[in-house]
Amino acid sequence: MDILSQDIMYLSGVGPHKKDTLVGQLGIKTWGDLLEYYPYKYVDRSKVYRISDLTGDMPFVQIKGKILSYEVFASDRRHKRTVAHFTDGHGVADLVWFKGGQYAMKTYKVGEEYVVFGKPTTYQGRYQFAHPEMERAADLCLNDMGMQPYYITTEKMKNAGMTSHAVGKLTKTLVGKIPAGALQETLLPSQISRLHLISRDDALRKIHYPKSLDDVQRAQVRLKFEELFYVQLNIVRYMAEHRKKYQGYVFGKVGEHFNRFYQENLAFELTGAQKRVMHEIRDDLRSGRQMNRLLQGDVGSGKTLVALMVMLLALDNGFQACMMAPTEILAEQHLATLQAFLKGMDIRVELLTGIVKGKRRKEVLEGLADGSVDILVGTHAIIEDNVQFRRLGMAVVDEQHRFGVAQRAKLWAKSEKPPHILVMTATPIPRTLAMTIYGDLDVSVIDELPPGRKPIVTLHKYNNQTTSLYNGIRQQINEGRQVYIVFPLIEESAKLDLQNLEEGYASLREIFPEFKLSKVHGRMKAAEKEAEMQKFVSGETQILVSTTVIEVGVNVPNASVMVIVEAQRFGLSQLHQLRGRVGRGAKQSFCILVTGYELSQETRKRIDIMCETNDGFRIAEADLKLRGPGDLEGTQQSGIAFDLKIADIARDGQLVQMARDEAQRIIDNDPDCNKPENALLWDRLKELRKTNINWSAIS
Ligand code: ADP
Ligand code: MG
Repeated sequence: MDILSQDIMYLSGVGPHKKDTLVGQLGIKTWGDLLEYYPYKYVDRSKVYRISDLTGDMPFVQIKGKILSYEVFASDRRHKRTVAHFTDGHGVADLVWFKGGQYAMKTYKVGEEYVVFGKPTTYQGRYQFAHPEMERAADLCLNDMGMQPYYITTEKMKNAGMTSHAVGKLTKTLVGKIPAGALQETLLPSQISRLHLISRDDALRKIHYPKSLDDVQRAQVRLKFEELFYVQLNIVRYMAEHRKKYQGYVFGKVGEHFNRFYQENLAFELTGAQKRVMHEIRDDLRSGRQMNRLLQGDVGSGKTLVALMVMLLALDNGFQACMMAPTEILAEQHLATLQAFLKGMDIRVELLTGIVKGKRRKEVLEGLADGSVDILVGTHAIIEDNVQFRRLGMAVVDEQHRFGVAQRAKLWAKSEKPPHILVMTATPIPRTLAMTIYGDLDVSVIDELPPGRKPIVTLHKYNNQTTSLYNGIRQQINEGRQVYIVFPLIEESAKLDLQNLEEGYASLREIFPEFKLSKVHGRMKAAEKEAEMQKFVSGETQILVSTTVIEVGVNVPNASVMVIVEAQRFGLSQLHQLRGRVGRGAKQSFCILVTGYELSQETRKRIDIMCETNDGFRIAEADLKLRGPGDLEGTQQSGIAFDLKIADIARDGQLVQMARDEAQRIIDNDPDCNKPENALLWDRLKELRKTNINWSAIS
């Protein structure tokens, strides 16, 4: 039996109680699981500081010396403080216990030499260590201690005595139990030498029990690379297999539809970025390969127009096209946009969403099947099995977030060959992140806004600064503009949030008796929502009070003010998306972030970044730093990356690139994935696919 599949119970130091904690809290069942429970930080314990060299901003440090005397301070029985005056010959520091002082006095003897480990703080002009870790110097060999690993532990674990220190003892025991060289290599010898990596056996030991910072770094690089490499190998292999399996339709022609639109209907010049992206897409469409392309562009950069032109190319080549949006409102808005663009042209555009029912639905479905519907706009309803196209050649998907590999696969099934796919997203994603999350897509970027747009001015206002806020709104509306006022709504506090929205709406009606208001939230019936929305779109109402249902896609160029109430409750990318609803016309637009006075540091950072920049890429990067990639919506749903235990795609960008290059090299040399010298890699990949739930659902 593989030594790593041994039950964690059979590790000395793990009894039934600890086993329950490890399994219950961390899912650690076997030796192998524990071995892959990596520390998140290290503290150098080979170094001993002099008390006279301490500074206030030091992290955990070690000092070595003797207790001179104990002193007990007690203002009353419940507030007792035991202090040991401690010296190393260079200075005096205090060791302090607020509880357990009795135990300390019994255990740590005056005059004996100890190594004390803790975080120094200053108190009344002296350094003190509260509840330090202490060990007899005679019991320690400091040179041997190296770096002390720190493991993430839960509250329940700590209560059960499983501190980071305790976990460290277990991993140390474990590493000692595994015979040298017993940990299987997962990379090729040639890779290890070419990329200057250490072996897996070495890395797994050093990651838990490093002697130096250098050990830590080499172990981390090796293990991170390995993780990222297999993610990239999976992606690159998947793309290669896909290309082999599916040929794409060739759209060789630029015909009547495209030309007529471009020459007669299009009222403005394309931006340079739109033109470049059109070229990239046309190259794909002529190549004979099926296109899977991600079109990134900030809100308002003109992606929808690009999508429309691409769909017209499909029609020119005798195919149908469809466009999918994440919500009904957005689908309806897209429909309206397309119809306006296509005015006077003989193109049948239809809508298919959950609310298209009965006779209407039947007509649409029939039109799709007999080919008389040219373009279908809709929600996920489009990928349902009963929706059959006569000849679907092009599918546009708006907002990648909610549309992963599995959904795309459903689209391929709708046609003889898989249709070309263009995924549009307004969430700018740093390159190395895109490489992992949407790794199987080629990327085009619209990095230029249509001319004449004025940068949106973003301001932060506190709750009580409403007078200037209301005056600003009034002024803008009197100048003919419209205003969004957005309230947060999250599932966990939906009832309260809705109440806030209702109250906000009622008071806004009193504040602005001269204006008309619309109100929209996710709990309303679709038709009702649509009607309210429509009033705002048509300009009948001047203020739209809503929850985030307008977050993506709504296009009202006349709207110039976006007020976000309780802005602290929104994430950065959400704030940016919301802000993108304004600034679409030629007039100066404003985004007002309203919060209370008490803000966490992180919230302040978010607000500051919003006020500072309109650049979606900068915001996405800041967001990634603040939240980490784990929170990024879509990481799970894209379904193509394996779980990462140690690598961090936000921070390890260079390693991501290195892993991608290496994966590509392997596939290029072994396109059929069957060369014996690579067997190790293909076996390992198979194993990983098996244990990855997302992945196995797709392939
Ligand atoms: P996105 O989908 O990227 O958020 P849209 O396609 O909705 O952006 O475009 C925003 C607005 O800009 C729309 O009103 C659109 O008609 C207009 N627009 C798009 N491209 C151009 C251009 N090249 N010049 C001027 N206006 C444009
Ligand atoms: Mg859009």
